[in-house]
Amino acid sequence: MSESGPERWDAIVVGSGLGGLSTAAYLCAAGKRTLVLEGHYIAGGNSQVFRRDVHGRRYEFDVGVHYIGECGRGGVITSALNGVGLAERVIFRPMDTDGYSTLVFPDFTFRVPVGWDRYRARLLETFPDEAEPLGRVVDILREVATAGRGMTRGEIELANLATDAPTFAQWGLAPVTSLFEKHGLSAQASAVLLGEQGDYAVRPSKTPVAVAAGVNDHFLHGAFYPEGGGQVIAGRLIEAIRSYGGEVRTRSRVERIRVEGGKAKGVVMAKTGEEIDAPIVVSNADLKRTVLELVGEEHFAPETVERVRAYRMSLPLYCVYIGLDSDLASELPNTNYWIWGTYDIEGNYDCMERGELPQHPGTYVTLASTKDPTSPHVAPAGHTNLQIMAVVPREYSVWNVERGPAEGGRYHRDPDYRARKNELMEKLIEVADRAIPGIADHIDWQEAATPVSQERFTRSTGGTAYGIELSLDQAGPLRMGPKTEISGLYLCGASTPSGPGVASVIRSGVVAAGSVLDRNLLSEVLAGNVIGDRDALPPLREDWDAWKESH
Ligand SMILES: Cc1cc2nc3c(=O)[nH]c(=O)nc-3n(C[C@H](O)[C@H](O)[C@H](O)COP(=O)(O)OP(=O)(O)OC[C@H]3O[C@@H](n4cnc5c(N)ncnc54)[C@H](O)[C@@H]3O)c2cc1C
Repeated sequence: MSESGPERWDAIVVGSGLGGLSTAAYLCAAGKRTLVLEGHYIAGGNSQVFRRDVHGRRYEFDVGVHYIGECGRGGVITSALNGVGLAERVIFRPMDTDGYSTLVFPDFTFRVPVGWDRYRARLLETFPDEAEPLGRVVDILREVATAGRGMTRGEIELANLATDAPTFAQWGLAPVTSLFEKHGLSAQASAVLLGEQGDYAVRPSKTPVAVAAGVNDHFLHGAFYPEGGGQVIAGRLIEAIRSYGGEVRTRSRVERIRVEGGKAKGVVMAKTGEEIDAPIVVSNADLKRTVLELVGEEHFAPETVERVRAYRMSLPLYCVYIGLDSDLASELPNTNYWIWGTYDIEGNYDCMERGELPQHPGTYVTLASTKDPTSPHVAPAGHTNLQIMAVVPREYSVWNVERGPAEGGRYHRDPDYRARKNELMEKLIEVADRAIPGIADHIDWQEAATPVSQERFTRSTGGTAYGIELSLDQAGPLRMGPKTEISGLYLCGASTPSGPGVASVIRSGVVAAGSVLDRNLLSEVLAGNVIGDRDALPPLREDWDAWKESH
């Protein structure tokens, strides 16, 4: 506290994930002095990158931005960036339109093309014996996704669903497995339709048709990667926040959100105990920690506390970061690989819900070097940057860890922890190498991150990046936010009704800022309006570095 009292802002955002940064950028653009407080040393949350120097060579690895949709004309991401004056500042590179994802199954490979028509035709070509029911299922998925898109954009009201979107009303909230079963789809065709389901990590029998269809639709409109790497989106939003009168402080963990008389009043910082005042506090931090720890359950109605306690977190991800001493990327198409050693996706989830690693984990491989060969940071010349990921069980006992790092648990020097982490790393490298030969023999750098590492960096409950599970009983209006029952306290990010993933959390930020400002910002932004004064942004510089901007 200074002599003149506590520091005071119009709004404080706790956490600098893309949800928090989007909220702050919009609040600042609309004239509210906003402070973003981030606990980690770099801003961006799951969209951050990290750099590794290996014998004088440098790699830059993405954490949670590998491929994203909604980046074309009128897309949610492009519109949201345009709305704060950033349209020309983030360039999106399209992935292969004839196969942005390559689904590798035990008996065949399916390349997912952009466009529902092409997707449908390729599916029917692949499964001629079930063309009729499969075609019908794809049509239903498409209709549900189109209605979902209309609802997101405010063109279809929930109340008018039965008349304006009857297919959504019939199927949207049904389990996707019931749709497949009703039409008698084979395990193979069903697995192809769910081939990218690691993007939301919900067991098929608990996945609403709207979620499965929506995620397919998201990418069928085009899959992209931001030029310069994942940090660019966060870096540009930070540039906008700073230009429009706000501030982003890293290494600034919030210990408590202050609530007095049912109203948000500001925050108390960890370590220093310093108080910072603001009548508006938006939390982008983990939902459970926000309600149960940062604010405190005594400030919420008992039903809310019960609901928050009962939310199931998403299954977390395990990631391997690899540098190769060969130019493998130049020989490959610009595609993601989803390697499925089984058609029994539900069986994999049975296994993970028992706290066990499946024998054939769904394995995702993505190569930053093919997605952005122009980036000076991704990998040294003649080298390749790639990542391998898999959904894993929630239990930390898988990693021989009892207490998570947010609770003070220490783990990373534990030999058992390292052994288990390395065992899965070797297994996933082997799986990736079988599908894309040339990985295992050329490793220049390898390291892995478990859900425990994820918790250490982002303080998410259970080390997940997807927030609460996006399952039938926790989707859409069954979630909390952006407004809460505490006046002046708002929520954004992966656990809010917008859901997880880059486009969704950016949308959650626009919606949260709109809720604070009491205006329909999302409609304004999707209509192409620019809220900020673009002249306040600094001139574009060739040597601008998202990494530096984000500290
Ligand atoms: C391995 C991986 C791969 C992924 N791949 C993709 C992909 O290809 N495409 C896609 O669309 N999505 C992907 N995602 C998901 C996507 O990255 C996330 O859903 C999204 O970025 C989450 O954003 P968020 O706004 O919810 O905030 P988060 O990213 O969760 O950030 C929250 C921030 O709050 C901070 N914080 C928490 N508590 C405090 C506190 N008390 N004080 C101060 N700060 C605090 C944290 O440090 C963190 O920076 C991936 C995620 C992971 C982990």
